[in-house]
Amino acid sequence: MSSLNNVKDYDTLVKEIMECKKCRLHKSRTNPVPGEGPIKANVMVVGEAPGRKEDEQGRPFVGPAGQLLTRLLELAGLKRSEVYITNVVKCRPPGNRDPREDEIETCLPYLLKQIELIKPKVIIAVGRHAARTLYTLASLKWYSMSKQHGEVREAMIASVKVKIIPTYHPAAALYKPPIREILEKDFRGPIAEAIRSIKHSSSRPMRKQLSLFDFMSESRSNSSSNK
Ligand code: SF4
Repeated sequence: MSSLNNVKDYDTLVKEIMECKKCRLHKSRTNPVPGEGPIKANVMVVGEAPGRKEDEQGRPFVGPAGQLLTRLLELAGLKRSEVYITNVVKCRPPGNRDPREDEIETCLPYLLKQIELIKPKVIIAVGRHAARTLYTLASLKWYSMSKQHGEVREAMIASVKVKIIPTYHPAAALYKPPIREILEKDFRGPIAEAIRSIKHSSSRPMRKQLSLFDFMSESRSNSSSNK
């Protein structure tokens, strides 16, 4: 696994992701989806992989599952704009299939670097791939979502002390009311509690992140200045 030791800041990391061709997913993507939100966010949401709408727009959680995520975050007392949102793999697997092990492993340095730079205090891992990946990174044992959703585990990831909370992926709740009930309970209960415990402990400055639009404008101006 490459460690991205040369990447020292968030904007450089985004550029690396936008240009990445390290795994087969680059061939079928429309846009990579690095992530978005304040780059000093206390709370990070990590999903599995971009879907069709995310791939089209280059932004995470913008479809119906994203709208549900926004409502769930509100149940936990958070505005979406306060949260950094990303995925384990940054490019859409074709046909929305699950990301493969080798794709997750190849893409993982980007997530680790995001955690190292953003230093979240709470990571909400939505979906079993995200939960299993984060538990593995934290040397915690992963059994199943039905057993472990809503549990709060303290861990060190990329030298950052975080609370990891796994729960179901909002997409799974769109057509399954029982999953939606569980999700709402997790966000109202343990997730809200973890947020409350960190919310007053610090107020961290927000800084504009490099968006897909900024990146494309910058690339265009670089290429014209190189002519
Ligand atoms: S999924 Fe990750 S490793 Fe694969 S091409 Fe996209 S950014 Fe690179």
